[in-house]
Amino acid sequence: MRIAVLAGGVGGARFVQALAEVVPPSDVTVIANVGDDLEVHGLHVSPDLDTLLYTLAGLGDEERGWGRAEETWNALDTIERLGAETWFQLGDRDLGLHLVRTEALRRGEALSALTERVARAVGLEAGLLPATDDRLRTRIRTPAGEFEFQEWFVARGHRDRVDAVVYDGAAEAKPAPGVLEAIEAAELIAIAPSNPFVSIGPILAVGEIRAAVERRHERVVAVSPLIGGRAVKGPADRMLRRLAGGTSPRHVAGCYPGLIDALVVDEADADDLDSLGDVRPIVTRTLMSDADARRRLAETALGAVPA
Ligand code: GDP
Ligand code: CA
Repeated sequence: MRIAVLAGGVGGARFVQALAEVVPPSDVTVIANVGDDLEVHGLHVSPDLDTLLYTLAGLGDEERGWGRAEETWNALDTIERLGAETWFQLGDRDLGLHLVRTEALRRGEALSALTERVARAVGLEAGLLPATDDRLRTRIRTPAGEFEFQEWFVARGHRDRVDAVVYDGAAEAKPAPGVLEAIEAAELIAIAPSNPFVSIGPILAVGEIRAAVERRHERVVAVSPLIGGRAVKGPADRMLRRLAGGTSPRHVAGCYPGLIDALVVDEADADDLDSLGDVRPIVTRTLMSDADARRRLAETALGAVPA
């Protein structure tokens, strides 16, 4: 069964890993958020692509959920000693990828081509595509001003209230090569339990991607990132309350209007399934606490596909 998955970083990677454990990984194509990308010390960093790459290749730090396992931080120590900014942490192993990527992009290679090259080099079997090769940046409007995504998320600890999320460049952005084909060829299109506003939102802000998903909405299943109305980690619950008016399944479904057929929700949210409209609820345990739990979630999501 061919599967296309829209995914952000940590929640996205855990779910894609689960899918790749229950179907042949080569049947899975990930369409990844690039709205979090940033320049750090002159290097192009793609946090969500990197989290997906490291997790799927078995190179990731499972505990932390991002970055490389057995990481060391010598470069960061030097950066700190030299008085430069260290709010965005880059490990030594991780830095190697950013060097290669930055050099490739400066040479004019597309982000998708570079990602494919890197994925092949680490033996990735699943397809990994950036949503777009064009510049698309998530910006966050708060009472304290407008911030680049990582400045708000990491440097300011996502404490500022979010008044609006802006996808800079989305109007002109084209899907990366392979993205529309993956959506069109998929028997199941999954939206990972990633943050709807800052992980999935930027992907769907690319008009041709949204239209392609909309055309195939009968095969789209989303997994809610909330358990008992709360995010497992991060600001998704606060953002839903503020930007969607609440944290029940219908508010999550409301982030994907006309785009999804089914929504996988946690048992803890099962008494709140009113007014989901024509979105079919699928109730299960959604915490990916270990390999068994995440596999069960993937199997449930796979079961959502119409015969
Ligand atoms: P980021 O790009 O690294 O911030 O990660 P994502 O946007 O892909 O994922 C963050 C979201 O994943 C958060 O809103 C979490 O609530 C959600 N999440 C993380 N682990 C789990 C899990 O085990 N189950 C569910 N349902 N959601 C999860
Ligand atoms: Ca992210």
